Amino acid sequence: MSTVGEGAISYDAKALREKYLEERDKRLRRDGLRQYIEAAGEFADFSDDPYVGRPAPRPAVTEDLDVAVIGGGFGGLLTAAKLRDRGMGSFRIIEQAGDFGGTWYWNRYPGVRCDIEAYIYMPLLEEVGTIPQERYATGQEIFAHCQAIGRHYRLYERALFQTKVTKIVWDESRARWQIHTHRGDRLNARFVTVSQGPLAKVKLPGIPGIRDFQGKLFHSSRWDYAYTGGDQQGGQTKLATERVAVIGTGATAVQIVPKLARHAGHLFVFQRTPSAIDRRGNAPTDLNWFSGLPRGWQRRRMHNFLSIISGQPQAEDLVADQWTDFWKRFGAAMAAHQASGSRVSPMEVMQRIDYAKMGELRARCAGIIENPRTAAAVQPWYNYLCKRPLFSDEFLEAFNRDNVTLIDTDGRGVGAITKSGVVFDGHEYAVECIIFATGFDVGAPPHKVGGYQLIGKHGVSLDTKWADGVRSLHGTQMSGFPNFHIVGGTAQGSTAFNFTHILAMQAEHAAELIDRSLRGGVRTQEVTPDAERRWLATMQAKHHDMAQFYEDCTPGFLNNEGEFRDKPTFVGATYGGGPIEYQRVIEEWRASGVETDTTRTYVEEPIARSPAAVSSL
Ligand code: NDP
Repeated sequence: MSTVGEGAISYDAKALREKYLEERDKRLRRDGLRQYIEAAGEFADFSDDPYVGRPAPRPAVTEDLDVAVIGGGFGGLLTAAKLRDRGMGSFRIIEQAGDFGGTWYWNRYPGVRCDIEAYIYMPLLEEVGTIPQERYATGQEIFAHCQAIGRHYRLYERALFQTKVTKIVWDESRARWQIHTHRGDRLNARFVTVSQGPLAKVKLPGIPGIRDFQGKLFHSSRWDYAYTGGDQQGGQTKLATERVAVIGTGATAVQIVPKLARHAGHLFVFQRTPSAIDRRGNAPTDLNWFSGLPRGWQRRRMHNFLSIISGQPQAEDLVADQWTDFWKRFGAAMAAHQASGSRVSPMEVMQRIDYAKMGELRARCAGIIENPRTAAAVQPWYNYLCKRPLFSDEFLEAFNRDNVTLIDTDGRGVGAITKSGVVFDGHEYAVECIIFATGFDVGAPPHKVGGYQLIGKHGVSLDTKWADGVRSLHGTQMSGFPNFHIVGGTAQGSTAFNFTHILAMQAEHAAELIDRSLRGGVRTQEVTPDAERRWLATMQAKHHDMAQFYEDCTPGFLNNEGEFRDKPTFVGATYGGGPIEYQRVIEEWRASGVETDTTRTYVEEPIARSPAAVSSL
């Protein structure tokens, strides 16, 4: 037995590995990604907007514009803000929801919060003047900040809400994109930016009998407060006599459960795979500290965090939370390993840190939950980054209540839904309400998330272009799609736990390139197929082979539910040099790559900004 100690926890590495694989094997399914149901067709109502009424009638808009910004979440807001910063006003933001906010518009479930420190997650704090009330902000506060960005940059006057884009087509004769919407609008834009968000496409579990259920059933991102009562802070008192089932124990469920536990007559939590849940450690913002922060602090703090969790040690850890702690442990272990001249492989060193971390989190379950069977059932057995790490000081605690029952399906998931309840292992749990906290189709291409057709030059659709895999430059621009920018492009682009940082990088990229084109009289700018080929080669050269890591992981969206060999994973499809290097690459490209990697046509007269736009500022 090779018992190894790392910190306070010692463990048998061989036995642990076997246990991890055994738990993974319980969860691997033949139907992999196909186990989920899209909220479309007969299930389309799961995506309906419960937060606004029917849109007020308005005449269809027909306009020529400089820029159409598709999506009003942080991606679209950042893009529009950066267009405004450059003096542009001839743009529209088209958003299918009733307001700005994106994921924070939709996700209004009780307890909703962001796991990333508000001071780095909420962009444009300095510009807008928002002071987050707490270190980890509520969804309500983040949504309010999105609205504040909208007001600060006067984006409301440029927004078309409750408007769904149906088709975006390149019109070669006019060198404009035609944007069609379900409300009959026809916008003709020189440039288009699309920001559909990675967490926008509702995913339903493929459990037989969903339509048979006669009680209340909804997805967590479409919360029905009229039914439950209360608000995002809690107070779901209308559930006092109800039996409620929450399906799922991921990031969303971990926040919902403590709130419902307080009020539901009885709460059944159906678990397929336990999450790894660390302590939250929230705190109110120290206003003295905040008011003393020097100009430019937010950018520095974001960079510092991203550097540390990208494995680039910094002299100081400005955020100093559970995220950075984990990466600093890696860094320290690797430094000690190199200094010692040990013959243990670096992978093994990293694995030891991981075993120790997960051991701490399992011990935490046992330390909090009084019922030993429940405490054992919620212990996660996989590597820390196989699933998204979570943080809560209330979730595990909820199982100490008499009205909360964990139904651990031991990896199998819920068997069926009947007209009156949820079935597992032949037993029906009668409930009046079921909440699917089953997540989103992460990483679908923008037009699939947005539900529109995207057709570039010569009538070639993005589906056709990407039939054999994503082809782009930097995950943001594509040959055959001139004047088109993806903001929030992860495939061949980048990602990070602090996703708004990636959005800020790509929004800056798009706004800068659009501004330069307009100033320089550029009619069309299109990356060349050769530039795409070279980027693909760079992607391949930078690619980290994560096959073994994913192979060993319990299934989840990070390893395509175990189907990672034929289809790139969400993370595996990103630039392997990491987000900090990615930022440098795109900045350098803006400085010196545009001439070689794009073809351009010019208008006879440089396009001055539309006067209306400038005067509107
Ligand atoms: P997830 O995809 O993370 O979780 C879905 C849950 O549903 C999993 O527990 C999954 O189990 C379970 N599930 C799926 N099918 C079944 C089934 N048939 N029977 C029982 N259980 C089932 O979705 P979330 O909405 O929780 O989170 C999505 C993402 O949103 C997160 O990764 C995060 O990026 C973001 N988020 C961030 C938050 C934050 O900052 N705090 C809060 C909320 C969300 P299994 O694990 O076995 O697949």
